[in-house]
Amino acid sequence: MSTEPMTVEAASAEPRASVRAFLPGFAWQGVDSRPYKQDASAPFCGILRQVLFDEPPLQCELRYFEIEPGGYSTLERHQHTHAVMILRGHGRCLLANEVHALATFDLVTIPAWTWHQFRAAGGEPLGFLCMVNRMRDRPQLPSQSDLAALRAFPAVAAFLAG
Ligand code: MN
Repeated sequence: MSTEPMTVEAASAEPRASVRAFLPGFAWQGVDSRPYKQDASAPFCGILRQVLFDEPPLQCELRYFEIEPGGYSTLERHQHTHAVMILRGHGRCLLANEVHALATFDLVTIPAWTWHQFRAAGGEPLGFLCMVNRMRDRPQLPSQSDLAALRAFPAVAAFLAG
């Protein structure tokens, strides 16, 4: 007679009711701080990632990224959408062919196939929440001709030069 316990998959499908405290230094109880990307194939500088929510019923994840002063995320684009809220600090982002200043609590929508990159201002980390689909495609990096097309916009060229 089979008395197998529920599989890990089934047991984890519905989240457990919980409250996880906010901790000093922009951390949360029970949440690991990990490198931004597991592979070092894409250029980025000084970023940590914390996955705050990863619940199958929601079909999305909410992550907290923190870029150290002067650091930057990978310049990339992909089919999936990002919804971002700045939680800490200031910086700038490249969005398509525009550069935008970012301040705490600003909201950034990154549609499908839109080039994007975040840069932290000097002096303080840039921290932001990023909501994303759980199932998503791999980011695409710019080719030399993509970069040339982006640099045709002077503000973008200045942003990419750092
Ligand atoms: Mn992205």
